[in-house]
Amino acid sequence: MQFRDLKKQYNVLKKEMDEAMIDVAASSQYINGPWVRELEAQLAEYVGVKHCITCANGTDALSIAMMVWGISEGDAVFVPDFTFFSSGEVVSLAGGTPVFVDVDKDTFNISAESLEKAVIKVKEEGKLTPKAVVAVDLFGLPADFNALRPVAEKYGLLVLEDGAQGFGGEINGKKACSFGDISTTSFFPAKPLGCYGDGGAVFTDDDEAAALIQSIRVHGKGSNKYDNVRIGLNSRLDTIQAAILQVKLKAFADYELDDVNKVADKYTSILKESLGDAVKLPVIPEGFLSSWAQYTIQLKDRATRDSVQAKLKDKGIPSMVYYQKPMHKQQAFNLPEDYGFDCSNTDELCDTVLSLPMHPYMTDEDIKTVADALKEAL
Ligand SMILES: *Cc1c(COP(=O)(O)O)cnc(C)c1O
Repeated sequence: MQFRDLKKQYNVLKKEMDEAMIDVAASSQYINGPWVRELEAQLAEYVGVKHCITCANGTDALSIAMMVWGISEGDAVFVPDFTFFSSGEVVSLAGGTPVFVDVDKDTFNISAESLEKAVIKVKEEGKLTPKAVVAVDLFGLPADFNALRPVAEKYGLLVLEDGAQGFGGEINGKKACSFGDISTTSFFPAKPLGCYGDGGAVFTDDDEAAALIQSIRVHGKGSNKYDNVRIGLNSRLDTIQAAILQVKLKAFADYELDDVNKVADKYTSILKESLGDAVKLPVIPEGFLSSWAQYTIQLKDRATRDSVQAKLKDKGIPSMVYYQKPMHKQQAFNLPEDYGFDCSNTDELCDTVLSLPMHPYMTDEDIKTVADALKEAL
């Protein structure tokens, strides 16, 4: 069994995928060109924002946002403690200070309450200026922007939606990657909408920010690439990836997002029935839609989690621990042992989470195999 079966997806889409790749090869237009422009228009329309600017990967997309906002030394940027490294890395890379905030135990997403506490603490300490919050749509579920916005507004924080895992998700019918002042996504192959290599995108409704993003991704260009008015990046989405993404976006919008939600529903009903309270299943709050980058359960403790994972592996069922370590314990950030910001939910999640095989092409039989193996392991 595959954790995320990209080969099966390719086999289903093979004819259009092969044509798309060959068209780019035959055109000899390998950089930019109509495929990239068309894709950007399609993505902006799907998400429901004014501007989509593609770039080289999801980490660059976040870095571009940091550069647009001029995040630098002395700035505090609030980041969930439970996320992929990039969400905080880009803050440090820009010269700012990431302040790690605890997450909600049910949704895995940044807690608005913990955010407010952290902002107050930073203000009281008086060393850093609160500037922005990175709200991550973890495992496909949009962060609770309805709760986060009032806190951001109260303290004058810019909101960056890290939708690397969230593309396709919704809150009350509004799409992920539309909730931030700037929002970003990643097209890394295993993300909800992935390409065949690296790719990313930045979304915004703000015309001024969009113009800056366009400039930053092309070496800080002014009137053209050889007129450079600021320090930028070289961060393009490859044309061949744009062609691939046009095919994949269509499948994603036509049926993959629906199908992955059917898989999730089936998982949840089967696991509830066969395991009862032995595991905690993912929680999708009322009005929210997940794009299921991961289907993540919580076990009783670390020993149980590790033994269940080993037993699944013996049966040929892959599973992953996202994430093993809270951000505030990552060596790269060089933070003191007693961090000072309460991140106890994250500490617990790192010991207990387990992500199961999940993708839109999973069959009922696959789901049953995983459920039976889990039951036996427990
Ligand atoms: C994958 C991921 C990124 C980075 O995306 P890349 O395209 O790999 O650079 C950023 N944030 C989160 C939450 C991610 O999962």
